[in-house]
Amino acid sequence: MKTDSNTVVRLSHVRKSFGKNEVLKDISLDVRNGHVVSIIGPSGSGKSTLLRCATLLERFDDGCLSFGDLEVAHSENGAAVYAGKERLHEARQHFGLVFQNFNLFPHYTVLKNIMDAPICVQKRDPEEVEEEARELIKRMGLAGNENKVPCELSGGQQQRVGIARALCMNPEVLFFDEPTSALDPELTQEVLRVIRDLASRHMTMVIVTHEMGFARDVADHIVFMDGGVIVEEGRPEEVIENPQHNRTKAFLSKIA
Ligand code: ADP
Ligand code: MG
Repeated sequence: MKTDSNTVVRLSHVRKSFGKNEVLKDISLDVRNGHVVSIIGPSGSGKSTLLRCATLLERFDDGCLSFGDLEVAHSENGAAVYAGKERLHEARQHFGLVFQNFNLFPHYTVLKNIMDAPICVQKRDPEEVEEEARELIKRMGLAGNENKVPCELSGGQQQRVGIARALCMNPEVLFFDEPTSALDPELTQEVLRVIRDLASRHMTMVIVTHEMGFARDVADHIVFMDGGVIVEEGRPEEVIENPQHNRTKAFLSKIA
């Protein structure tokens, strides 16, 4: 299946079970260039599993996945068939991932955390990477912290290092899994500010979040998941301000 040139990520009819527990039930999602998609929904609804499937940390059982024209998996006789190692490696160059718990290397400095993958995985020129890393550190409001190790930073600073690290790979799309849920409110705001700035620069992003105000402001498209299905999706003013489904209404009334 050919994707149109505006589609950065396409998931179609994805199914995934853990044992007898079907966690993703026929999920389809297109992410368009320059768009921000926000995934919301109760705990256990399959949001992280969807992100892990999209970023190749987890294999799904059936369905298709492609990044632009690069097909990663297609469906054949009711089962997902994945591309070979080389193409998966190529696909990994298309996206970055920001985790809930930062996942920084604890014994590496800020600079080395950011520079490691571009040099070791992408085999880029270390001097050029360092220049870019220093620029990203400034953009993230982290100037002066280049040689610190993660435990010397606040959670909000660590998460901004996580974002800089993902950006230094020059991804076409960034995935965030609850990037602020480990942070207190003040530190949450400084991380959300950085993500808002990326949105204003038209970075394509998929963000799982419980921050409804942020999702409403920043997202072009909201996806509400519950029980492994997309119950409702659309523009923020539709889904958040005027939800149509009872499950969406119940979720939003609890979180507000
Ligand atoms: P969310 O991110 O929306 O909270 P998850 O994707 O983490 O939801 O989980 C969805 C369901 O899948 C839950 O029932 C969870 O227990 C189950 N699950 C997630 N990861 C695994 C795993 N590695 N092994 C078994 N079950 C899992
Ligand atoms: Mg989760």
